[in-house]
Amino acid sequence: MNDIQIASLVARFPLLASLMALAETTWFNPNTTTLAEGLPYVGLTEADVADAHARLARFAPYLAEAFPETAVTHGVIESELVAIPAMQQRLEQQPGQRIFGQLLLKKDSHLPISGSIKARGGIYEVLAHAEKLALAAGRLRLEDDYSVLLSPAFRQFFSQYSIAVGSTGNLGLSIGIMSARLGFKVTVHMSADARAWKKAKLRSHGVTVVEYAQDYGVAVEQGRKAAEADPNCFFIDDENSRTLFLGYAVAGERLKAQLAQQHIVVDAQHPLFVYLPCGVGGGPGGVAFGLKLAFGDNVHCLFAEPTHSPCMLLGVHTGLHDGIAVQDLGIDNITAADGLAVGRASGFVGRAMERLLDGFYTLSDQTMYDLLGALDEDEGIRLEPSALAGMAGPQRVCASEAYHRLQGFTPALLANATHIVWATGGGMVPEEEMAQYLAKARRG
Ligand SMILES: *Cc1c(COP(=O)(O)O)cnc(C)c1O
Repeated sequence: MNDIQIASLVARFPLLASLMALAETTWFNPNTTTLAEGLPYVGLTEADVADAHARLARFAPYLAEAFPETAVTHGVIESELVAIPAMQQRLEQQPGQRIFGQLLLKKDSHLPISGSIKARGGIYEVLAHAEKLALAAGRLRLEDDYSVLLSPAFRQFFSQYSIAVGSTGNLGLSIGIMSARLGFKVTVHMSADARAWKKAKLRSHGVTVVEYAQDYGVAVEQGRKAAEADPNCFFIDDENSRTLFLGYAVAGERLKAQLAQQHIVVDAQHPLFVYLPCGVGGGPGGVAFGLKLAFGDNVHCLFAEPTHSPCMLLGVHTGLHDGIAVQDLGIDNITAADGLAVGRASGFVGRAMERLLDGFYTLSDQTMYDLLGALDEDEGIRLEPSALAGMAGPQRVCASEAYHRLQGFTPALLANATHIVWATGGGMVPEEEMAQYLAKARRG
């Protein structure tokens, strides 16, 4: 985009000036619809999510053996939902700031196998691909016990095929570890911002890691090109994959069961607010889709992005989706938030979900570090910076009377609210690395 195009875009969308100034910005979406009105735009249905549930159930006996850490949950990859009352008090410390209702943390940060939300979508897509190949070759039937996939014969079978993916780190970890365990040849194309320990971990699992000096977009493009040259290579497309999206969507029904178990009610009188860190959009988009199917119009989803990488806010707000990148506005896409350093949002997710999302906001890396330190101090829970992006959401939602009016929330209704901050990563961060994160937090 040239200067004149940018100036006219900013004139039409004054909020962009705030994004360009790297100010922490909140936008509550005036174009939300009911689930019934919004669902047709997603292009996926409840039956698709049910299919994903069933596929994961078929693989559970395999996962329980292949990854012993999942044996306690019988091969189901799921995270805890915990109350964080001390953190809730902390968030109320700013003058005039209340957090209505109860604050919970969804610890995808501690998901088995790869320690991030990518253990949902990434692993699911690899499993779906493996199943497809094995079924097509007549080596597997849907009713088989899938722990047969552990056999040397199956590893030999999968070794004829390869898998490739572009990643800033966590998706690569999930896809790399899962693919290598099944026996696939797997290559992860890593962007410049990917952490050294993630690359080392992958190599220790026998994954080929290709490093780029550029950002996520370049790593994905190079990965796509390399895969195209090989007919036996399957490229996992983080930006457009419906399969990944469905792997994430399974979280909706799972969360519903967890809330019921904890006797937490979600209905027209008890709204649920969920805060999801957003990179390219598949993870938060898929989870939000699953949540909408599970809770209908009683769940309100908000996406959180770094001030330096507000790609989804930019794409949805302007309606340009993947037709614009933050770099077009001179925003550098440089952030400490792994997984969120994405300059151009998924066009699929933005278009599919824009009617079903209540809002979008940005926060600075320093705010993420401060929240990281506070959560460690108050609750003894350690996350990576990106996983704290959701933590700023309850303050934004509770403080905005304009949003309450827009949605018709009364004080009585808000008093019954449940807020869930989706903690998306950090469970596998090495001690030394975590010490560096903690040192960046301002205490007080
Ligand atoms: C990937 C990732 C996200 C966001 O997921 P997208 O699908 O890229 O939007 C959030 N947090 C962490 C830690 C991640 O790794």
